Amino acid sequence: MNKPLVVITGASSGIGEAVARAMSQLGHPLLLLARRVERLEALDLPDALCRRVDVTDRDTLKLALEEAESRYGDTDCLINNAGLMQLGRADEQDPAEWDAMVDVNIKGVLNGIYAVARQMKARKGGTIINISSVAGIKGFPNHMAYCGTKFAVHGLSETLREELADDSVRVVTIAPGAVETELLSHTTSSEIKDGYEQWKDGMGGVITAEDIARCISFVYQQPQNVCIRELVVTATRQT
Ligand code: NDP
Repeated sequence: MNKPLVVITGASSGIGEAVARAMSQLGHPLLLLARRVERLEALDLPDALCRRVDVTDRDTLKLALEEAESRYGDTDCLINNAGLMQLGRADEQDPAEWDAMVDVNIKGVLNGIYAVARQMKARKGGTIINISSVAGIKGFPNHMAYCGTKFAVHGLSETLREELADDSVRVVTIAPGAVETELLSHTTSSEIKDGYEQWKDGMGGVITAEDIARCISFVYQQPQNVCIRELVVTATRQT
């Protein structure tokens, strides 16, 4: 039997790219979204529709979903992974960075949910996996706005899960600890970046995007009546 459609936002690098490879290995057709569409195409995965979509643009996101669904059928799994981390001191950070994180990390996730929730509720099935962070569970210095957005992801996911449970739609929150990806590169303060790198070295290195992809695959492959509501995945030595 043909496998159903999996949609991944932010699949052009890091965790999203690793999940795209993992889901492709499992035989799923994919809709891969990001702004750097050339990086999506370079993955060269079979049955993968690649579209340049900024997750803050609700209409473009929905259009891409409709195009993929007309080709591969209903979306069975949405992985809301696109995210932006710009660390900064609360009294110094440019508020434009707060705006960008709120737009991508919160509204981007809501836009993904908007694009699939009605269809999943109607057919009584599907899985929405929202990528939060341990920064959505506890605070860290210099993470004020980023933590705020990730606490929001935990809050909206858990609320959505309650709302869709009766319709057999699973909502899962994944909270990774530090993972080796491009995420830190968007922070503008070199002092904060250096401190972060030292923190990672101090724990003997962090986990890989493939580690998180393996966990996401595990969660998704459970029977539909089994919902792993939340998974916190960190390096063993991360405190
Ligand atoms: P990367 O920076 O490697 O990947 C981020 C992805 O998000 C890219 O594919 C990027 O694509 C995409 N993205 C960013 N902004 C937008 C946008 N406006 N529209 C569409 N896509 C966008 O980082 P990670 O892989 O680490 O991050 C993935 C998720 O994991 C994020 O939500 C992050 O917060 C979370 N996370 C990461 C941790 C880590 O330590 N790395 C720890 C905990 C959580 P493009 O630029 O091409 O648009």
